[in-house]
Amino acid sequence: MALRPVLQFPDPILKRVSAPIEKVTDELRELARDMLEVMYDEPGVGLAAPQLGEAVRLIVLDTDWRDEEAGGERHPLVLLNPEIVSREGTLVWDEACLSVPDFSADVERAERVCVRGLDLEGREYRESAEGLRAVCFQHEIDHLDGILFIDRISRLKRNLYVSRRKKALREELEAQGAR
Ligand SMILES: [Zn+2]
Repeated sequence: MALRPVLQFPDPILKRVSAPIEKVTDELRELARDMLEVMYDEPGVGLAAPQLGEAVRLIVLDTDWRDEEAGGERHPLVLLNPEIVSREGTLVWDEACLSVPDFSADVERAERVCVRGLDLEGREYRESAEGLRAVCFQHEIDHLDGILFIDRISRLKRNLYVSRRKKALREELEAQGAR
């Protein structure tokens, strides 16, 4: 079965504020499974539900997985209604996003965060994270509020990316029209 496509900037769904999850349903479990599959396939270290077109507060994360050749170790985390309850320090990380093709940029983030949410069984989950994992939590939770990492860089850099992206999309459309 084909994997679900990842929505890409400037898809308007990526700008929506996602709704809290009230109840764990079979559809939600299926969505979490799909998200993990897409994340490992791309490959990435995190994914938020709106990236697959579902505006609900669900993220998946695995910041230290290895592919088959390297032992195939995986530690997937599925988190519902995640929230950052505290942040400490600052760091600058070169970020990229499956929804922002062909681009990366330095983003200032908190160095350490405490995160709270629910797992798929409805149990409370808490974690203190730092470095890449802290960045990943902040990046994915931003998606649930309709924020992309390019919204956190200088206006100049963002504008340069946006015009490059628009040009690429125009060329794609023209190529399709010419077929
Ligand atoms: Zn992203």
